[in-house]
Amino acid sequence: MNKFDQIDNFTAELLDNLFSGRNLNADPVSPQAAKIRELFSISALDNQTGNIVELFKILKLARASQGFSPLAFDISRQDLVDLALKHQQIDEHRVSIGGRVDKALSIVSEAGSRVDWYLEQKDVSAPSGIELWDRIEQNHLRIRQLLGMSMEDWNSFSGQLRFAVESVETLGEILNLPAEAIEEVSRVTRNYRMRLTPYYAGLIMPETLDDPVLLQAVPTGEMVDNAGIEIPPVAADHSPARLIDQFYPRVVTIKATNMCAMYCTHCLRIAHIGKKDRIYTGKAYEEAFKYIRDDSRIRDVLITGGDAFMLPDEMLLRLLGELDSIDHVRVKRLGTRIPVTTPQRITRELLDILEMSNDRKPLRVVTQINTAQEITPVSREAFKQLSKRVSAVMNQAVLLKGINDTRVKMWKLCETIQEAYVRPYYIFNCSYRNPQFAHLRVPVKKGQDIVESMYGNISGDAIPRFIATAGGKIPLHSSNVTGAEGRELILRKPWSGEEVRYPDPDPVEYVRHDIAFNKFEKNDGHEAGDQEQEQSRLRGQGQNPGTR
Ligand SMILES: *Cc1c(COP(=O)(O)O)cnc(C)c1O
Ligand code: SF4
Repeated sequence: MNKFDQIDNFTAELLDNLFSGRNLNADPVSPQAAKIRELFSISALDNQTGNIVELFKILKLARASQGFSPLAFDISRQDLVDLALKHQQIDEHRVSIGGRVDKALSIVSEAGSRVDWYLEQKDVSAPSGIELWDRIEQNHLRIRQLLGMSMEDWNSFSGQLRFAVESVETLGEILNLPAEAIEEVSRVTRNYRMRLTPYYAGLIMPETLDDPVLLQAVPTGEMVDNAGIEIPPVAADHSPARLIDQFYPRVVTIKATNMCAMYCTHCLRIAHIGKKDRIYTGKAYEEAFKYIRDDSRIRDVLITGGDAFMLPDEMLLRLLGELDSIDHVRVKRLGTRIPVTTPQRITRELLDILEMSNDRKPLRVVTQINTAQEITPVSREAFKQLSKRVSAVMNQAVLLKGINDTRVKMWKLCETIQEAYVRPYYIFNCSYRNPQFAHLRVPVKKGQDIVESMYGNISGDAIPRFIATAGGKIPLHSSNVTGAEGRELILRKPWSGEEVRYPDPDPVEYVRHDIAFNKFEKNDGHEAGDQEQEQSRLRGQGQNPGTR
């Protein structure tokens, strides 16, 4: 007898429970009894698990709600043991009926309650631009007519920039803001530039004062009224060469332009961006490339800005070509929000340039989408085209008060962008450096709650890492290792709080070298593992590996 000819513990437990019920008084002509008898006879005949599962479920219900044992329906323990074994034999993975009915189905149904609230709220409190598309299309039509744009203007990047909304008057015409609000915006725009492409302006729901796109794009009084001193932007102490920012030995950024198609109220580079459009000289780029060429440690170069897609095609072609010609530069990135703010920029010519460079060395596009509302059928199409031509399209969202600082909004953002071919990469906690947007900051604890709540509830590759920027990117996730007992760690499941024990490998075993084929090695006195381990061991002893 092999072990599949026996019932397992889950099934034994289920049967014990069922047969602890009363075996009399079931009404033999009730619909319930009829259903049970029917399931019993067909499950004996057919070669499926479905009817067996249904039968056990309904018997379980009869036991729980009315106290009936299967005997009340003329079904014996042996009958059910036979069906249980049959179930186990049909199932590809030999899952027992007890495991399925008593455990798996209950676990799944209980887990469902972790997401049911989200499924109810997501399209109401965090609608995507796809769900709002009818209203956005009406906005677009209205704005296009108001600005006197032709369809050709509308569908081209140059047209979108030429007709960009930069004045408070135009803003007032396309949105339904109260007079005091318009007054306030004009006060702020004396210091901070406002620019919305007509397309992006159309994503704003014109009657909604707390619209999340409005809050990202239109400067408010706090930007000038917030008390505090602006801490110099990172460039002041992290720029080893013209246009270059460097926090890490192997990754650098080139800030190739200071222009954007839309200016964000929460821009980290607010000191440089959007004050005045500047064209950088050829000399500046030359010096930046010389810096990269001269340091062979640099492996990953991020062309950013401003917005990399503000650069004309020929310029992007040149910059990417330059990077591709440097042997030690192995991968590249472009930082851009333009697929979100002005998807008209994603033309066939641009896509061809990106693909050509990606064919030489992997090119990723890093974007910034902060709300599901920013994903429309048009931007989704732009991202779909991009994703076919580059090695990855990734999102860096910024956690912003009133914009995306709830579980439902952030889950919805991550799922919506994933469905739009974009991989959630980072969520930045809004920076402390600039008083201009201190009013948009969210406590780290809140951000941790939002990100942790995603584990187990949305796809793992739709969960971004939560990051503070403070002279480099510092991960902020809370630890799920809550303790240790002997060699066992105590781990917490983020989605339920349940703690599980997790045996760590034996540290003595771990440093053993004589495993696998090493057993056959001639002993030449060389012991250790790889150089990295060797070096960290030496560092641990306070020695300098270089002098050994
Ligand atoms: C964000 C950033 C990078 C890239 O960091 P990753 O963690 O590799 O995404 C590199 N340099 C600077 C200056 C940056 O701001
Ligand atoms: S797109 Fe980036 S660089 Fe441009 S304004 Fe927004 S945050 Fe700043």
